[in-house]
Amino acid sequence: MKNNEQLFERAQRSIPGGVNSPVRAFRSVGGTPRFIERAEGAYFWDCEGTRYIDYIGSWGPMILGHSHPAVTQAIRDAAVRGISFGAPTEAEVEMAELLIKLVPSMEQVRLVSSGTEAAMSAVRLARGAAGNGERRKIIKFEGCYHGHADSLLVKAGSGLLTFGNPSSAGVPADVTQHTLVLDYNDAEQLEQTFAAYGDDIACVIVEPIAGNMNLVRATPEFLDVMRTQCSRHGALLIFDEVMSGFRVGLGGAQSLYAIDPDITVLGKVIGGGMPLAAFGGKRAVMQHLTPIGRVYQAGTLSGNPVAVACGLATLTEIQRPGFYESISDITKKLVDGLTAAARRSARSAGKEGDHGLAFSGDSLGGMFGIYFAADVPRRYADVIACDIERFKRFFHAMLVRGIYLAPSAYEAGFVSMAHDSAAIDATIAAAELAFADIG
Ligand SMILES: *Cc1c(COP(=O)(O)O)cnc(C)c1O
Repeated sequence: MKNNEQLFERAQRSIPGGVNSPVRAFRSVGGTPRFIERAEGAYFWDCEGTRYIDYIGSWGPMILGHSHPAVTQAIRDAAVRGISFGAPTEAEVEMAELLIKLVPSMEQVRLVSSGTEAAMSAVRLARGAAGNGERRKIIKFEGCYHGHADSLLVKAGSGLLTFGNPSSAGVPADVTQHTLVLDYNDAEQLEQTFAAYGDDIACVIVEPIAGNMNLVRATPEFLDVMRTQCSRHGALLIFDEVMSGFRVGLGGAQSLYAIDPDITVLGKVIGGGMPLAAFGGKRAVMQHLTPIGRVYQAGTLSGNPVAVACGLATLTEIQRPGFYESISDITKKLVDGLTAAARRSARSAGKEGDHGLAFSGDSLGGMFGIYFAADVPRRYADVIACDIERFKRFFHAMLVRGIYLAPSAYEAGFVSMAHDSAAIDATIAAAELAFADIG
């Protein structure tokens, strides 16, 4: 009989930290990662045969739930025809046409294999296309994640208008010196930064609904000011919708906020669980890419036929009428149930009012945030002020009850169409007991 502990021991010998992406390691919550063997619908099973209700959904892509029959069939059919050609296919054109149709601001698009690659390419494209192609600076926001390209692995330094400091070893400060890191939802600071550096700013990159510092919504004002400032100063606006795209609604955050970015970055849901991502935008901007323009970008496996087939099958399902109403309802029911359970637990422990259990939640489409704080966070500082120790205890109290939440207080949660009332009710019932456990 296999077990997680032994597999983790073995994994650590051949793989740094035993995992191929750091958040899988359970390091921020402690404990042993679960080694998953199979998945179906809202559930996955680890190597010990334990079943979990899955609220990470491969960190966003699995919006239909696991092993959706239409998706699995599409992958099989594509694989039989050939796995990769390194030459164009009709399915890639179909995918491009569909993305352009569904994402309001996009006129052309290029397919790549990961969100990191898409965001990195979008920034290079913006620098090549903005102004005379010689602008150096980019603006990003603390708490937003855009993959692990050098110039985007940056945290705020000290001081108001801050030049970024590398947030990873191996990234020289020379590389990040042109990345300005600002506060999310601070429109005034953004205006000041444009006033100071406007003619050297190539682009602003933002998660219009942030999902990498838990879930934090942008205020409409913040995004409006961003659009206006970019246009006024000739900078390009990049919406990184790798997470929010096809997750919060069919047209992504840009359709919810009615903002028209110059470039959009997509990933996660568009691949339905296979390695597929994209960046696209206005035709005049996209024409700067090689082979027609001078901004270089390429990829051996870009537009891989099996990944594209998986993505197309996924995008077909989510276009069914009522899909986003349903998934929003399911997700809201979950978050409302969790907050009510937290309140009941506080009441029975006699901790109501200001000294009560600080817990809140928010959701948009099939994405949610739960916070060990009295109010839903609006910026990065609010997120890091949440009670992380209580989150850790809650995470483990849920895990032992078969509920798999993101093993970090800084990640959003994901619901799929396969999460039926039975799964949601079981989760809320488990939370009731978990809250009682953690006191
Ligand atoms: C996940 C994510 C990325 C990185 O995508 P990968 O496929 O993991 O490289 C970039 N931006 C956002 C907003 C993301 O959520």
